[in-house]
Amino acid sequence: MLSIVEKIILQKQSIIYVLFDQNFKVIMASENVNKFTDSANLIRVGDDVRDYFPEIFGIEKECLKMIETPQNGLDIEGICRENKQQGIVYFNLHIGVIVDESSRELILIIQDVTREFILKQKYVQSANDSYLSIDRIVATNAYINELIHSMADSLFVTDFSGLIKQVNNAAEKLFGYEEKQLMGQPISLIIPDVKVLEQIRIKSDELDPNYHWEERRGKYLEVNCRTKTGKEIVVAFSCSMFSTEITELQNYIYIGRDITDRKRMEAQLQKANENLTQSVHKLQNRNQDITRLSQLSYQLQGCFTLAEAERAIAEMVPPIFPNSIGGIITQLSPFDSQFERQLELKLLTSWGEGSGWDLKNLSTADCPAWTSGQRYFICDLNLCSLRENISPEISKGSCCCIPMVLQGQTIGLLYLSWPELPEITQEKQDLAMTVAEHIGLALVNLTVRETLKNQSIRDPLTGLFNRRYLQESVEQEIQRATEKQQSIGIIILDVDYFKKFNDTFGHQAGDKVLQAIAQLLMRSIRNGDLACRYGGEEFLVILVGANLAVTQARAEAFRSGVKLLRLEHQGESLGSITCSFGVACFPEHGQTLGELVAVADAALYEAKKLGRDRVVTPEQMTAKNPELNHSDR
Ligand code: GH3
Ligand code: MG
Ligand code: MG
Repeated sequence: MLSIVEKIILQKQSIIYVLFDQNFKVIMASENVNKFTDSANLIRVGDDVRDYFPEIFGIEKECLKMIETPQNGLDIEGICRENKQQGIVYFNLHIGVIVDESSRELILIIQDVTREFILKQKYVQSANDSYLSIDRIVATNAYINELIHSMADSLFVTDFSGLIKQVNNAAEKLFGYEEKQLMGQPISLIIPDVKVLEQIRIKSDELDPNYHWEERRGKYLEVNCRTKTGKEIVVAFSCSMFSTEITELQNYIYIGRDITDRKRMEAQLQKANENLTQSVHKLQNRNQDITRLSQLSYQLQGCFTLAEAERAIAEMVPPIFPNSIGGIITQLSPFDSQFERQLELKLLTSWGEGSGWDLKNLSTADCPAWTSGQRYFICDLNLCSLRENISPEISKGSCCCIPMVLQGQTIGLLYLSWPELPEITQEKQDLAMTVAEHIGLALVNLTVRETLKNQSIRDPLTGLFNRRYLQESVEQEIQRATEKQQSIGIIILDVDYFKKFNDTFGHQAGDKVLQAIAQLLMRSIRNGDLACRYGGEEFLVILVGANLAVTQARAEAFRSGVKLLRLEHQGESLGSITCSFGVACFPEHGQTLGELVAVADAALYEAKKLGRDRVVTPEQMTAKNPELNHSDR
């Protein structure tokens, strides 16, 4: 048995123990031992210690042996016990012998190592975790390396100063260098353009943590690069910055893809696209030209008179030749009379800024295009006689003249110049020729038509309208005058003693007199009035809107005009010619041309009777002679 002192010591030392005898019956136990027992019951004196510490099973002999021959005792370490109240505890068991004078007892001392054990476990755990992490890092590194090298895109990593720190296989392959040739070299080895490198380098203010993160992610740049062999390639780089442990020193990562072929294809495509656009544009222009041309042709076909055609040409031709200076001149006259043989140049239309046509000084004989009769003529700007008269101040660009030729004779000319164009395209030449052909053809057709028409309504000797035309048009005039309540004056004039004149000077001289009188009449009448050859040496003039007084005055003017004519034939003076005039007026002297002519004729007869070279009105006729007739004339 333990002495009181020993027990007190045990208790004081807070030693966890169980004291038991040789029969393994509990003699004494510390209070705190229950935490370590393998039983839900509280340990009591007399209980079998093995029920609480089953570890003793099997070592009873060793225990008893200790009592007989004192020795070091038995140690069982690392026992783990889990109970519901206490949770898990770890402890070491030491079984020893307490020797007393009277007895020997066994003692089971428990060393609570729960805290140490848990600490150790945690340490082991953390050590294991570290190993695992290292393994993982190594694996990740290998994985990243594999990834980097198996990338199809080239990868470069440089330090802050631009020296290459890492490259991958794709980069080696693309640029033709070996890894060792690239390592430590400046990135300018492959990207020679310094400006691009500056662009890539992220400014220091972008390192500010408040800097917009999206912009820190990277920059996409298409860069001209150089391979080891000096070949130029285009690489699309995605460049970004990443910080090392030392924040101030950033690394740059360049991931690039060769886009040389793509760029070439893009350029080819762009070129093809441009060509296509150009072709489409050309086609559109051509289409527009054709449309305008067919509109012109259609319009010209619908024209009945030269005047209509000239209006259509003036309106429709200039838009066919935008940005040009141009004009159309003709030398055509529909009237095939002896008077009109002297053909004059006529400007049908002109267009273009800074052009002013001076036809007076223009002679077709000086114009090589006109005289050559060639279908198309590219003029030398400095020699073109037309240009001198059209736009003398424009001395650059190109110009062409296209004569309109009919049976070897030039009847007109299309002049075109483009101050902005050094030369005229084939399309423009073709277009100009077609336009000129259309115009020429239409003008000739209409000229022929008008000539034929004129021949049927005009007197060939004098060019004045004939009696048939007079009949048709005066009826219309009377109709109009009736509606508008206007008057119409009518003058009949007859050359005095013409028979004698012919006899004296000859028939040709007589013709000349008739032509001169016709010219005088044509010059003197207004637009809308009519002059016609009524008979051999008899003329009739219709003055639309004129009353008797006006008509009489006009007749007087004609009379003095004729008298003043000084004609010569074959160098011989033909002397003075006089005419006698009879006048009448619508509506007071008649309602039809026949009635009016009869009255005017009677007045003329009276004028002859009164001595010729005078004007007689119906009012002046004597009442004694109401039945005037001129059958004797
Ligand atoms: P009066 O003063 O009474 O009119 O006398 P006259 O001689 O003019 O009249 P008459 O009727 O006797 O003669 C007209 C002449 O006009 C006859 C004819 O030879 C001439 N004559 C008519 N037509 C033409 C023509 O086209 N050319 C020429 N040269 N003479 C013409
Ligand atoms: Mg006569
Ligand atoms: Mg007569």
